[in-house]
Amino acid sequence: MAETKYIFTTGGVASSLGKGIISSSLAKLLIARGYRVAIQKLDPYINIDPGTLNPYEHGECFVTDDGAETDLDLGHYERFTNVRTSQANNVTTGRIYQAVIDKERRGDYLGETVQVIPHITDEIKYRIQLLGASGNYDFVITEIGGTVGDIESLPYIESVRQMKWELGTRCLVIHLTLVPYLASSGELKTKPTQHSVKMLLESGVQPDVIVCRSEKHLNQAIRNKIALFCNVNPSAVIESVDVETIYDVPLLMRDERLDQVILEKMQVPIRKQPDLKLWEEFLHKLKHPVGEVQIGLVGKYVELRDAYKSITESFIHAGAENQYKVNLKMIHSESINDSTYKHLLQDLDGILVAPGFGERGIEGKIIAIRFARENKVPFLGICLGMQCAVIEFGRNVLGLKDAHSTEMNSLTPFPVIDIMEEQKKIDKKGGTMRLGSYPCTIKSGTKIWDVYKTAEIVERHRHRFEFNNAFLADFEKAGMIPSGINKQNDLVEIIEIKDHPWFIGVQFHPEYKSTVASPHPLFVHFVKAAIQFKKVQKK
Ligand code: GLN
Repeated sequence: MAETKYIFTTGGVASSLGKGIISSSLAKLLIARGYRVAIQKLDPYINIDPGTLNPYEHGECFVTDDGAETDLDLGHYERFTNVRTSQANNVTTGRIYQAVIDKERRGDYLGETVQVIPHITDEIKYRIQLLGASGNYDFVITEIGGTVGDIESLPYIESVRQMKWELGTRCLVIHLTLVPYLASSGELKTKPTQHSVKMLLESGVQPDVIVCRSEKHLNQAIRNKIALFCNVNPSAVIESVDVETIYDVPLLMRDERLDQVILEKMQVPIRKQPDLKLWEEFLHKLKHPVGEVQIGLVGKYVELRDAYKSITESFIHAGAENQYKVNLKMIHSESINDSTYKHLLQDLDGILVAPGFGERGIEGKIIAIRFARENKVPFLGICLGMQCAVIEFGRNVLGLKDAHSTEMNSLTPFPVIDIMEEQKKIDKKGGTMRLGSYPCTIKSGTKIWDVYKTAEIVERHRHRFEFNNAFLADFEKAGMIPSGINKQNDLVEIIEIKDHPWFIGVQFHPEYKSTVASPHPLFVHFVKAAIQFKKVQKK
């Protein structure tokens, strides 16, 4: 296609309606028709990026290959489309203002008064068109965070208005709303959608397509009513009814002809139907498991649905790959102690200890790891989870009393995990960890070799602390193998235990790279090990 086309997704009525999933599903459909598509998220908050945010605020922080700390919706984009994202795919108000203020300080505005319109909106429009300008995409889908009517979203909606005006049919707006069902009257209500569209119109934006999230099907009369009040064709009123899994949504949107309606509106010739064969095969395996396993996810944010999003999604991909259902038991690390651990952990076929920061819940994680090691339960430790496995081994196998990470105890006599050399001089937070893709070399003949079946891998990182090589020889002698090393700085990236069927800790985050099209081998093999463990237990 000659020129990149821009599709915006805005939201109204309520937050958490799933703009990210609708955007990802549309991208999937367009890619399945042979187009090149990028998705981007604009977040209206003032933080430069979500890297400094507590998971209680916006859930997991997703990390890209180029080391950007981003919104978790970028994880959905990658999992649905299998297209890698980067810093350019997530922009916050903080980043926009920082760029404009930096320009002002450099004197770039030549004495002008710097204002929201045009300077902030120009910067927003520049960021939106940056991906398109690369020439790599036919469509750029831009999801606007928040809901219309929020004060902080206004400059974004204004930028959409300007782009629609400037680009005509190269620009299209999808508005996602809620059509609530009132049980008492047995009716679906369209008024909130009408109000939400009015709100958009007040900002000068006429949506082209309205996607209605609803728990019941929308009949033709309801569609006609929304179409009439909101100035769209009835065919452009798309239903998004609640489904069993988010991975059903692309098929649902195909059946509602979302992609077709959009292509027609943007005057793109319809060349072929989307090819979703592999996606349908994945869904079939997901929905027809031949058995199930129970895996414990030990972390301190388990009560938050989105805090470990990429990990829980990776288990869905890996479960489908094995055609097994993975039941995740979320276990709060603070609830694990000497008197509760047996009861909490004994029914598990595998234990995963999650990434994290800080002291809270550490001792519970260490007890869970000891249980996995001693009872030969398959174990995967990610980042902090790997570091805790090293601490546990140091304390309970090597007898290093009070061994710890200097992150939790700077005065430990045995700092088996210590701050990385390059991190010592950094005092600023935000984008300063060891972030993004780094290579790792795998030792042959190890368990991790069986997982990757190659010597050189690249995985994404987000940490400040590392295995302390001063202890390496003692750990190796006692049976903990450093089976993956970053050769540039001799950093232990992977550990495993010799006398255990499947005990692996990784300093990196495999969960960021698992997608529907390519489930991550570490999760696939971990689930395999859990299936095997369950079979042996049952004998
Ligand atoms: N807190 C640890 C570190 O900074 C682990 C980080 C993580 O789990 N992402 O090294």
